[in-house]
Amino acid sequence: HAKTTGRGRFAVFGKEMDAMLQQRRALERDLRNAVKSETQIKVEYQPLYSAEEQRITGVEALLRWQHPERGWISPEVFIPIAEEAGLIEALGERAMRQACSESRSWPVQTLAVNVSAVELRNPAYAMKVAKLLLAIGMDPRRLELEITESTLTDSAGHCEHNIRALRALGVTIAIDDFGTGFSSLGRLQQLEVDRIKIDRSFVQGFGRSANDEDIVKAIVNLAHAKGLRTTAEGVETIEQSDYLRQIGCDDLQGFLLSRPMSPVGIERLLRVSGSLDPLFPTPNDKRA
Ligand code: C2E
Ligand code: MG
Ligand code: MG
Ligand code: MG
Repeated sequence: HAKTTGRGRFAVFGKEMDAMLQQRRALERDLRNAVKSETQIKVEYQPLYSAEEQRITGVEALLRWQHPERGWISPEVFIPIAEEAGLIEALGERAMRQACSESRSWPVQTLAVNVSAVELRNPAYAMKVAKLLLAIGMDPRRLELEITESTLTDSAGHCEHNIRALRALGVTIAIDDFGTGFSSLGRLQQLEVDRIKIDRSFVQGFGRSANDEDIVKAIVNLAHAKGLRTTAEGVETIEQSDYLRQIGCDDLQGFLLSRPMSPVGIERLLRVSGSLDPLFPTPNDKRA
């Protein structure tokens, strides 16, 4: 009928577009306020476990936004908005500052923080991180930056220069969501990084697609041949974790082992697993 053909169809399409754009602008405005607010933006932490002993080796900081009316909004939604609206640098700095100070007393080898390509293109990025670590008193060797594969292949801007400067400080670099970009296996040989995080889509294909098992095995072998550590993301079943351990994947991360948690939750977990002494409460306990 009229609505789906000819001019009518475009009228409907135009209305939907308007509604979408309006929603998007509203979110952008709300995010601008959220970045300034003390309460809407938080950081949760998801532990990484060594595959062999199932010991916590690190935590990954993940941003959380609680919108006053809409509730929790996923970073998959608000990070791209922040990138386009020029808010990612403020947001990223906030995540990094909060994660570094909050996790200061935790007995974990690494704190992993996600970094956007937009942040890495800023020529002053490495210097900003160095200053922040110095101000907080954090050993750069404890910090790992997670960047996506496409960021590394992005020749524009100062990404390479920043990565080199950060590695010289002792900061380690992980490629996040590995396997989803264009480069994949061949590129692994040239990348100047410390860790590969295998995208969860491969892990979740186990059992359904023999191909995914082979791909993950090949990534682990190639990474090890280059002296890189490997983490598997999105481990949800015992079968997945058994296979990953069997092929020698170094670390595991996923809902099977632990969901992302508040700082208080992480401290409780570290205490239960024996890494934090229960007799000596940490500064974060005050907020429980
Ligand atoms: P990511 O860095 O790949 O983080 C892993 C995501 O997978 C997290 O989603 C985590 O909650 C989820 N996850 C962990 N284990 C499992 C599992 O077993 N199954 C499934 N289905 N999912 C699992 P989250 O927290 O929603 O974050 C989504 C993405 O947002 C992150 O992906 C990262 O790319 C981005 N992000 C989060 N925080 C920051 C940040 O501070 N800065 C930047 N630039 N990006 C961030
Ligand atoms: Mg990540
Ligand atoms: Mg990832
Ligand atoms: Mg991801």
